[in-house]
Amino acid sequence: MGKKVVVAGAGLGGLSAALMLKTRGFDVLILEQNRQAGGKAGERIQDGFRWDTGPSLITMPFVIDELFRESGARRQDYLTFEAIDPLCRYFFSGNPCTLDASSNREVMRENLSRFSPEDGKQWNKFLNYTQKLYRLTADLFLYSPIHEIQNLLTFKNLSRLPALFQIDAFRSMHQAVSGYFNDPKIRQVMDRYATYVGADPWKAPATLNIITYVEYGMPAVYIKGGIARLSEALAKRCEEIGVEIRFNTPVREILHNGKKVTGIQTDNDVIPTSVIVANSDAVSTFESLIRGKDKTKKRLTKLEPSLSGLVFFWGIKGTFPQLAHHNIFFADNYRKEFHHLFVTRDISSDLTVYIAVTSKKDPEHAPGGCENWFVLINMPCLSGNQDWDKWVPEIRENVLKKLAESGLDVRENILTESIMDPRDMKTLYSSNKGSIYGISSNTRSTAFRRPANRNRDLKGLYFCGGSSHPGGGVPLVILSGKITAELVSRHERIDK
Ligand SMILES: Cc1cc2nc3c(=O)[nH]c(=O)nc-3n(C[C@H](O)[C@H](O)[C@H](O)COP(=O)(O)OP(=O)(O)OC[C@H]3O[C@@H](n4cnc5c(N)ncnc54)[C@H](O)[C@@H]3O)c2cc1C
Repeated sequence: MGKKVVVAGAGLGGLSAALMLKTRGFDVLILEQNRQAGGKAGERIQDGFRWDTGPSLITMPFVIDELFRESGARRQDYLTFEAIDPLCRYFFSGNPCTLDASSNREVMRENLSRFSPEDGKQWNKFLNYTQKLYRLTADLFLYSPIHEIQNLLTFKNLSRLPALFQIDAFRSMHQAVSGYFNDPKIRQVMDRYATYVGADPWKAPATLNIITYVEYGMPAVYIKGGIARLSEALAKRCEEIGVEIRFNTPVREILHNGKKVTGIQTDNDVIPTSVIVANSDAVSTFESLIRGKDKTKKRLTKLEPSLSGLVFFWGIKGTFPQLAHHNIFFADNYRKEFHHLFVTRDISSDLTVYIAVTSKKDPEHAPGGCENWFVLINMPCLSGNQDWDKWVPEIRENVLKKLAESGLDVRENILTESIMDPRDMKTLYSSNKGSIYGISSNTRSTAFRRPANRNRDLKGLYFCGGSSHPGGGVPLVILSGKITAELVSRHERIDK
């Protein structure tokens, strides 16, 4: 039997770490506080309707293929990827009022040209620029443990250093986008990719324009049956290769002797272990699960959290051909919306509304003649004097009004409803201030300030998932699990 590792949390990051640790010969136990695997990537079923609770779009799908392959299986035997066309339908006020985004370069160029022929011509150049950013940054920032000095000082990485001056870190995403496009609506579409990591396009470094490339250039996919199938499949694969998962088992405390971890306290047991991989949010872990590390706690709680979200799960009577699988109804003043999200941390009167309708691809997700709407609105993280009990019904009214103005008056069509607001994000997933993507990516230094995968305060403590390197979003948390597993095998093989 290999050395024991306890993974705290069965989110996608924890499942990825567990799979990679088990294939490296460790004895792996996952403790999950909830009754299903996948954390944010779960599912809800109510009155004959079914929704994903979190991710609705998978970028960099090859990361999932690689994870299955490295665990000794074929992704195709577990999951079916489906192309998405259009990638997203954008709705604006004014004319033209809709834009279908396509991974086909020529189609996208034509669609953009309806807004501005000049901007249409820029599409290829912009995609090439985002592709170059990806090539320059991916190995170092997405695939490597950036906080490990020995990794940074390899010949390969040192030879890459001059190229780092080309990663466009000194402009904001919005500034770079505005350098390519003039039309405000097209700028809004390209700026929007900052929200894939819960950031503000007016603050986040232009390097993050790589997200546009991973959406269009790779391109993004849907998983047949819903994204929660991924969580289910990874949990199944874990169990097949001998990882034990204990559900309904919250970790109450990470035990340590000041220098190294010694075990885990659950409601009923103390589980002795010298290696813990926390898939729980790193800030929340230091706040609630680890005693006596106040300096670290103070440092981490100062970091700005990423966006949170408000989700309305609506079972809707009727079918709406004007909607695609993914839809965005933009606010007129996007910049003002981000000011509310990150500065005043309250609610803008005009909000950008995202609607995913998986029943377009999987009709069994809703009863006949109905659709399952997952309605997501970006929200500030929890802070100070917020009044969610007052805000949520107000936002609901505003969203319904906005949709009615776009010809989708569904006020009488909501057959069933449930709601998840930022307070629920905190309660359900123990995320820091209800944030979805860990700490915000609003500064140039975020990549380095994000909690490291190998903790330096306590030997044997590791982090994986959206709150640690390389950050949030499905492919990145899977990569995070892999990076962490690699570090555990590097540092924990022999008892030191
Ligand atoms: C509404 C929404 C929409 C999103 N849309 C997209 C999208 O379209 N595309 C995309 O790529 N990403 C999207 N994301 C982000 C993506 O879901 C996350 O980045 C990713 O799933 C996070 O995985 P994780 O492993 O970091 O953490 P989590 O999913 O947060 O998992 C952590 C797990 O740890 C458990 N845990 C925490 N504390 C304890 C404890 N003390 N004891 C035991 N267990 C514990 C939690 O219960 C949870 O299961 C979205 C997220 C949300 C919420």
